Amino acid sequence: MLTDHFRPQSFNGIDDIVIVGGGLAGLFCALKLAPRPVTILAAAPIGHGASSAWAQGGIAAAMNTGDTFEKHVADTVAAGAGIVDEKMTRMMVAEGPARIHDLLEYGVPFDRDLEGKLLLSREAAHSERRIVRVKGDMAGKAIMEALIAAVRSTPSIRVIEGYVVEELVREGRFISGVVARPDAGQSKTRVSFPARAVVLCSGGLGHLYAVTTNPWEACGQGVGMAARAGAIIADPEFVQFHPTAINIGKDPAPLATEALRGDGAILVNSKGHRFMLDIHADGELAPRDVVSRGVFAEVKAGRGAFLDCTKAIGTHFPEMFPTVYASCMAAGIDPVTQPIPVAPAVHYHMGGVLTDGEGRTSIDGLWAAGEVTSTGVHGANRLASNSLLEAVVFAARIAENIKGTLPAPKLTEWGDNAGESDDPVTVEDSPPFKRLRGLMSECVGVVRTRESLLHAIREIAELERVNTRLRFSNIITTAKLIAVAALQRTESRGGHFRADCPTERPEWQRRTYLTLAQAERLAAEAIETEPA
Ligand SMILES: Cc1cc2nc3c(=O)[nH]c(=O)nc-3n(C[C@H](O)[C@H](O)[C@H](O)COP(=O)(O)OP(=O)(O)OC[C@H]3O[C@@H](n4cnc5c(N)ncnc54)[C@H](O)[C@@H]3O)c2cc1C
Repeated sequence: MLTDHFRPQSFNGIDDIVIVGGGLAGLFCALKLAPRPVTILAAAPIGHGASSAWAQGGIAAAMNTGDTFEKHVADTVAAGAGIVDEKMTRMMVAEGPARIHDLLEYGVPFDRDLEGKLLLSREAAHSERRIVRVKGDMAGKAIMEALIAAVRSTPSIRVIEGYVVEELVREGRFISGVVARPDAGQSKTRVSFPARAVVLCSGGLGHLYAVTTNPWEACGQGVGMAARAGAIIADPEFVQFHPTAINIGKDPAPLATEALRGDGAILVNSKGHRFMLDIHADGELAPRDVVSRGVFAEVKAGRGAFLDCTKAIGTHFPEMFPTVYASCMAAGIDPVTQPIPVAPAVHYHMGGVLTDGEGRTSIDGLWAAGEVTSTGVHGANRLASNSLLEAVVFAARIAENIKGTLPAPKLTEWGDNAGESDDPVTVEDSPPFKRLRGLMSECVGVVRTRESLLHAIREIAELERVNTRLRFSNIITTAKLIAVAALQRTESRGGHFRADCPTERPEWQRRTYLTLAQAERLAAEAIETEPA
C-alpha cells in the first residue's frame, strides 16, 4: 500500500535516505531527520507489525529525585552479566531524559502525578523508580500513536507500507539501496530503492522461535540481510526469554508484563508452591533469565507455572493493566480471581548488527537502530525498559550523524523493477519456516547443549540446502548466526544458558563478533567433525 505518490521526492531516481522499518526506531529517526527527505519502507502498515506498539512497561530514564545516571548505568551493567559496553550505556542513559522530552513534544501522554510531574514506576532489577509509562500498560501503543500522527503530518517523510525489504544492495564499500517486495511480501515483482543512506530499523527476531511475544514481522530478516551484505554481527547468541508470556496457545503469545511482579504478583506451580523462592533470593524479581529457567523447569516437569495476581493486584487489575486483563479475559481467565498460566517466550534479542555510538554499522552507507542492532548496552541480558530508550537515543544520534556525513551517491543503473528473482514466500505459513521455529525453540532455546546446537546447525544447513527463496535465506542466516555463536560460547551467561557448561567462565567475559563468512566456516567445521 502506498500512502503517498510513488517517489515524489526522489532525486534523479535516488531516494535520499531510506529507513527500513516503521517501529519506534524508524519513525523517531525519520522525525529527527526532518526536513531532510526520508522514505520509510515498512513490512506492515505503521503501528502494526512492530513490537514497539506492544510495549507494556514503558521507557527507562533516570529522572526521579534521588535517581542518578550512575545508578541507571550500574543497574544496566549488573543486568548485562559482565559484557555491557559501559561507554555506550553512559551515552544512552545520559541522553534518556532529553529523548523523553522529545517524545512529550511529539504528543506522547506519559502518566503524570497531581502536580504534573512525570509518574515513574519501578521494574525488576531497577534500583529506582524510573519507568515512564502511559495508563499502566499502554506505553507502546500511546507512543506509536503520537509518533504516527507526527510522521503523517511531516511533509518530508514518505511512508510506503506493505513493502518487505529483502536485500541490502552493496556496491564496493557502500550500501547503495535496498530491494523490496510489495503487497506484504506477496508480490511477484520486486522494487528497488537506490539511496544515499540506508537506516536499518527492522526490529527483532522472536518469530524465529515457536513461542514468542513478538509480531511475525520480527523474524530476524534485518540481521540476516545485513550479514549477507557483509556486516559484522555482535552477540547473536543472547536471546532474552520473557518468563511470563500468557500460556494459552496463541501465536504470538500475549504478555503478562513484568510490572505485575513488580507490584507483588507471585509465581506458583499447579501445587500452589512458590518455586522462585527456592531458586533466587529475589524470588519473582530475579533477573529475567533466572525466572525464565525457573518457569521453564516447572512447565517441562508437567507442574505448570502460574502468575498469581489475585492478592497483590486483585480488583485493581482491569484499570491498572487493561491490556493484560483483556488478553486473559479473552482466554476465559479472570486474573482478579484466577492465577494466569504462563510460559517463557522469546521476547528480545540482545545481539544484532554491530553499531558504533553514531549508529554506524561496519559497512559504509548503512546505519542501524533499535532491536536489530547490538550497540553493547544490553550485554548478555537486557534490563527491562532499556530497549525503547536505546531505540530513541541511537535513532536520534543517527539523524545527527547522517546530517553531517553522507556517502557519495552510487548511481549504478537501477531500474524501478528489480525483477522476479524468486517466488514470494508466505513466511508465516510455510512448512520450512514452521520447522525452523520448532527447531530453534527445541535446540537453541531457554536451555541449550552442545548436542542440541550441533543438531540445530545440521538441520539449518539442510533447510538452507533446499531453500530457493531470498527472504527465507535472510531468516535462516540469522538462525545460523545464533546457533553457531551459541555453540562457540562454552559457558552460561545472561540470556545464553548451556546445561553442559552451566557457569560463567572468565575467558568468555567478552562480546562475540561474527561475520557470515566466519559463521559458515564454523558451521561447516562443526558438521564435519561431528556428523549426525
Ligand atoms: C509484547 C512486548 C512488550 C515489550 N515491552 C517493552 C517495554 O515495556 N519497554 C521496552 O523498553 N521494551 C519493550 N519491548 C521491546 C521493545 O518493544 C522493542 O525492542 C522495540 O520496540 C523495538 O523497536 P524497533 O523500532 O527496533 O522495532 P519494531 O518496533 O519491532 O519495528 C520494526 C519495524 O520493521 C518492520 N520490518 C521488519 N522486517 C522488515 C523488512 N524486511 N522490510 C520492511 N520492514 C520490516 C516491521 O514491520 C516494523 O515496522 C517489548 C516487546 C514486546 C514484544
